[in-house]
Amino acid sequence: MITSFITHPDCALHDMGPWHPENPHRLTAIIDRLKLTGLMQELMQYKARPITDEQLFRVHPKAHIRSLQLSQPEQGFTPLEDETLLGPQSLDAASVAAGAAIRAIDQVMKNQTDNVFCAVRPPGHHAERVESMGFCFYNNAAIAAVHAIETFGLERVAILDFDVHQGNGTIDIFRNDPRVLVCSTFQHPFYPWRYAESQWDNIINCPLVAGDGSQQFRALVEQRWLTALDSFKPQLIIASAGFDAHREDPMGELNLEDDDYYWVTQLLMDVARRHCNGHLVSILEGGYELSSLSRSVHRHIEALVGL
Ligand SMILES: [Zn+2]
Repeated sequence: MITSFITHPDCALHDMGPWHPENPHRLTAIIDRLKLTGLMQELMQYKARPITDEQLFRVHPKAHIRSLQLSQPEQGFTPLEDETLLGPQSLDAASVAAGAAIRAIDQVMKNQTDNVFCAVRPPGHHAERVESMGFCFYNNAAIAAVHAIETFGLERVAILDFDVHQGNGTIDIFRNDPRVLVCSTFQHPFYPWRYAESQWDNIINCPLVAGDGSQQFRALVEQRWLTALDSFKPQLIIASAGFDAHREDPMGELNLEDDDYYWVTQLLMDVARRHCNGHLVSILEGGYELSSLSRSVHRHIEALVGL
């Protein structure tokens, strides 16, 4: 397997303060561990490019982006939602995070790589079409899916989200869009408190309850995701890869282990091999406890590489 690793130093420009769990140390911890173990040497490393307006406006309307830009302060923060703070360079970071997702799609669609991990922040899956929330401004996974559809003519893209939080933004953007299948496992009831009742055939909501762990997670993925995926036959798989369902992560109350991330990645790769030439693009979402985050991402990437 050829695996790309895409990131950008400007992801660190979005900094809501050292007290905030969604901080630049998250990427440093991931990159440090990959270098320490030598796994980084197995990856093709690339720098993201900023997203273009055209690519961004396909998902988030121009007026919404304009209002975000006008809200960006020259210093300090503009709070958009409880703990979602817009700082002076937050949108520069969001631009390269979304740009990484675009570059990842370009690489797999041009057969330059088999799969990609985008080590980016701010995350994206809570960002709805016209609302920023849950530490998210631009919906990176949605932008990637629409790019694959509009630029490369794909008709079926699957987005698979194993973050502890439901990907409400992705659901908001694609509800009732037959071109995109969205499967999400998440703790329920829990943030983001919306779209829990799915009325759309292309949205596969798989709630778990506080305290659930490997066994319940694996059973749901095998029963619900696999069935939906094999009948949808995706031409590309995008993972909204959040690692905050880990037992050691204080953000949620699920109890996944490092090996669950290896397991789910292998399962997605099997689906990708069956339906889409192994093409899989994984984009970082949550994960806030630095040790379990970096270990779990490491396991995820080991599976992507085929180790
Ligand atoms: Zn999360």
